[in-house]
Amino acid sequence: MQPIHLIVNPHSGYGQQQHLLADLRAAMRQAGMATVEYVTTGPADATRYAGGLPPTTQAVVVVGGDGTVSEVVNALSGSEIPILPCPVGTENLLAKDLGISANARRIVEILQCRRIIECDVGRINGRIFLLIIGVGFDGEVVRRLAKVRTGHISHLSYFWPIWRTFWEHDFPRLRIVADGQEIFNDPGLAFVGNISRYAAGLRICRDAKPDDGLLDLVVFGCRARPRLVLHAGWTLLRRHPLKGDVIYHQFKRLLVESDSPVPSQVDGDVGPSTPLEVQVLPSRVRLLVPPPRRSFWPWREVPI
Ligand SMILES: [Mg+2]
Repeated sequence: MQPIHLIVNPHSGYGQQQHLLADLRAAMRQAGMATVEYVTTGPADATRYAGGLPPTTQAVVVVGGDGTVSEVVNALSGSEIPILPCPVGTENLLAKDLGISANARRIVEILQCRRIIECDVGRINGRIFLLIIGVGFDGEVVRRLAKVRTGHISHLSYFWPIWRTFWEHDFPRLRIVADGQEIFNDPGLAFVGNISRYAAGLRICRDAKPDDGLLDLVVFGCRARPRLVLHAGWTLLRRHPLKGDVIYHQFKRLLVESDSPVPSQVDGDVGPSTPLEVQVLPSRVRLLVPPPRRSFWPWREVPI
C-alpha cells in the first residue's frame, strides 16, 4: 500500500501544527499507517511536491492553512489522489466547511473511513482556486497586506490594510458578464465563491455549495463609504442577498472588466488584476470528509 503523505507548512497558524503533528504521528503509527512527511520551504513548494506524487498515492494530509491547501489543490486537481485539510492556519475555511477539527484521533478516523466527495474548483485567468475570489475592495486589502507581510499573519495583521483601504479606495466601475449576459455595469465590489465561508465568520456567498457545478457571485453596488458600511452590516446578518443593490447570481463562466486594472484576491492571496475570466471546473478535486454524524433525530443523517 502506498504511504499517506503529510505536507506540513511550518509557518501556518500560531504553532498549532507542531502540537497536532506530534499527536497525528502517534495516532497514525498506532493505526498502522505508513506515512511520509514533507515540510514546505516557501511559496509554491507544496504545489511542486504534490505535483510529483505517484497517482496511486493513498491520500495527502495538508497540515497548513487555506493557502497551503490551495497550493496542493493546484497540483492535484483532476487527479485521483484525495486531500484531507487539517485546520492549523489562520482561517481554515475549507476544513471548517467540511467539519474537520484539529483532533488527531478524528483525522485518523477520517483516513480510515475514506469517505470522499468530489468538489468543484474554479479557474481564474488560468489559475485554480478552491474557496473565494474578491474583486475591488478586498483585492486592494490583500495587495496592501502582501507588501508589508513578513511571515505569519493573524487576524490583526489585516487591521491597517483594511483601515487604509477603507479611506483611500475609490470604487471602480465593474462590468460583469455571467454566462454571456451582462448583469452589472456600475461602481462596486464583487465576490465569487465555491464555498459560503469568508474570513471572520462572514458568509458572503451565502448559498454556495462546492459540489453543485456552479460558482456563486455576489456584487455589491457601491459608490461611497457609507454604502460599504451598510453592506457590511447586512452581510454580518446574512441578509445581503435580499437588498436592492446586491446581485446574487450563480454561473459557470464569468467576465469582469474595468476601465483601469482592479486588483483581486484569490483564496486569500494576491490574485490577477482585471480583466478576469472565471470558470467552474466541476468535480475536479477529491476531498476526504468526516463520516456522517447522527443527528438528534436518529433516522436522519447530518449533511456535511
Ligand atoms: Mg458551487
